[in-house]
Amino acid sequence: MLLPLPFDEPFAYLVEDGTAPPPGTLVRVPFGPRRITGVVWDTAPDPKVARDRLRPIEAVLDTPPLSTALRRTIDETAAETLAEAGSILRLVLSVPAALEPGPIRILWRLPAHPTIEALDARRMKVIETLARSEPLQASVLARKAGVSAAIVKKMGEDGLIEPIEQDTDAVVAEETFAGAPVPLTAEQKAAARALVDGLEAGGWWLLEGVPGSGKTEVYLEAVDACLRAGRPVLVLLPEIALGAQWLGRFERRFGVTPQLWHSGLTAAQRRRTWKAVARGEVRAVVGARSALFLPFPELGLIVMDEAHDTSFKQEDGVIYDARTVAAIRARHEHAALVLVGATPTLESLEAVAPGRHLLLEARYSPAPEPSIALVDLRREKPPAGVFLGEALRAALRATLDAGEQSMLFLNRRGYAPLTICRACGFRLHCPNCTAWLTSHHYRPRLQCHHCGYARPLPDHCPECGAVDFLASSGPGVERIAEELAGVLPGARLEVMTSDTVHSAAAAADLVGAMLDHRIDVLIGTQLIAKGHHFPDLTMVGVVDADIGLGGGDLRAAERTFQLLYQLSGRAGRESRPGSVLIQTRQPDHPVMQALARNDRAGFVAAELEERRMAGMPPFGRLAALILAGPDAETVRRQSRRIARAAPELEEVLILGPAPAPLTLLRGRYRERFLIKAEPQIDLPALLRSWLTPIRLPRQVRLQVDVDPQSFL
Ligand code: ADP
Ligand code: ZN
Repeated sequence: MLLPLPFDEPFAYLVEDGTAPPPGTLVRVPFGPRRITGVVWDTAPDPKVARDRLRPIEAVLDTPPLSTALRRTIDETAAETLAEAGSILRLVLSVPAALEPGPIRILWRLPAHPTIEALDARRMKVIETLARSEPLQASVLARKAGVSAAIVKKMGEDGLIEPIEQDTDAVVAEETFAGAPVPLTAEQKAAARALVDGLEAGGWWLLEGVPGSGKTEVYLEAVDACLRAGRPVLVLLPEIALGAQWLGRFERRFGVTPQLWHSGLTAAQRRRTWKAVARGEVRAVVGARSALFLPFPELGLIVMDEAHDTSFKQEDGVIYDARTVAAIRARHEHAALVLVGATPTLESLEAVAPGRHLLLEARYSPAPEPSIALVDLRREKPPAGVFLGEALRAALRATLDAGEQSMLFLNRRGYAPLTICRACGFRLHCPNCTAWLTSHHYRPRLQCHHCGYARPLPDHCPECGAVDFLASSGPGVERIAEELAGVLPGARLEVMTSDTVHSAAAAADLVGAMLDHRIDVLIGTQLIAKGHHFPDLTMVGVVDADIGLGGGDLRAAERTFQLLYQLSGRAGRESRPGSVLIQTRQPDHPVMQALARNDRAGFVAAELEERRMAGMPPFGRLAALILAGPDAETVRRQSRRIARAAPELEEVLILGPAPAPLTLLRGRYRERFLIKAEPQIDLPALLRSWLTPIRLPRQVRLQVDVDPQSFL
């Protein structure tokens, strides 16, 4: 019995009549003083456990069993991530309420032998209404029959009509997928054909296409084919909250909305969707990465749109990469997997089989690709406290005068990333983290973006007490909006960040306002770079392209290219040509040069070569170990212990332990190891044999991050 608790091994329980329920069955068992829901696992229980110490299974649940494919996905995901199998199971059983019956409602129907003699006209209406209909709720029945609720109630008491109980979670709207296929271009058709023809055989594809090439239309063809073959489909999107435009397209194509799965759902929505998926009644789900753990009895196709997106890596709790889990699940389901995007990761590009790399090279719309120009901020140096150079200001003005829309991109929330005291030089920082506090003006406060710590904006320096000497250093999007309001008086500006967009509805509102051209300039963080399609948007400005290039991140260049390339793709998507202006202090950097020359292939080739030389992914494998605890000395001591136990292999390089760049996070001191292994090494297995024997004191926590995306 595998339990959704942080244990690797299944637990043994007694079965009353000696026959164990088949693997996958959900059962309720005692665990200490608690009752817990577990799943019958395939492995035989440990024979060393004495039979007379075993406790019995209490109940077998009504919930459909977890499929073999899902159970193997759990096992393999645990092996890959070094998380306990029970912790992965917990991601599957993420909605405990879904394992209970739902709220009950009473419906009324006719008895087998209805009494109709001597009924008055109103009662006869009720009988006639029910004779023509499914069982109805009292209020609905009263309305349909045109009588008062009191009559229906009285008839129930007199036994003239009969109550039945209905589990409201058991009701699903009938989904009929119909809708209009879109005529495809020759290039789109070829890619769609390849996917559709290969569906049955399974395996994975890379669908790469320039922004606006119609990748969505292509993979919706595969979705259609899969649904027709009677197998369910899962589509993963990175920013599900921003999917209003996407959902609209799905609806136009198929005539129904798919089921949604993301963190913004209500508890009732989660419960109903989980149950309906488990019963095999849901045919299409669109969701965030956690949807990979939904209990589909079988799955025919997984699509990951914008598959390079960083949100596909879960960084806390169980650390996993949704791309890895998707590949594991697709393999066990014998389903097809399609990774979609304009800028696939180097890992995907290197791993894909040649015949399975589908390319869309032309935009669908007649507009040419946007022209991209660099602005050298070293030469065109705006005065202190000013962040929009003359070239960018002129472009924004011209776009406004032409009646078109612009976007201004800066990947920084808030007003300013740093507040300094001009009297003593003190920098306001977080008490819990190695990080500056960001000032926010819309909701006035200083905030740590790592731990959420917040305090009011001070009027004096907390260090020296000087009043009115605090100065903002550097820009955030709020400060850019302030500057822009001075540059374009009267223009309609909006800011889009996670601070201004709290819900799917708020995001849809902003997107709607852009579409209706009620906004002239949209200023924002990477939220504005996602797959939006705004016909009147012709100019994209990048305030500071260098932000992501600093630091020791292996993928800094790759990520910056992905982000700016995707962002550029928003400009001029219909008939009018688009232009992109990138402000940078490093115009000679390979990323900037590749963008300006529109040479993605060249950039990828050069970047791959560098990785190959360094033995970095995709030509080697990385893992990070992070030790954290409240006492710095204890953490250091324990990390030295781990270092002493490290395996010594020629193919494996162990760097560290060293204080993490984010040395203090949420009040915990952190030490990091980086492990670099040659590709033939089974890195998870190596880590397991190294780390499993080591027992750490309670206050020190060890996190294992296989294929790390973050190096903080
Ligand atoms: P991508 O995802 O590659 O950026 P999209 O799938 O969003 O591109 O397509 C860009 C725009 O072109 C969308 O408005 C889409 O509806 C339109 N489009 C693409 N292909 C077709 C087609 N075959 N017929 C009609 N419209 C299309
Ligand atoms: Zn903090």
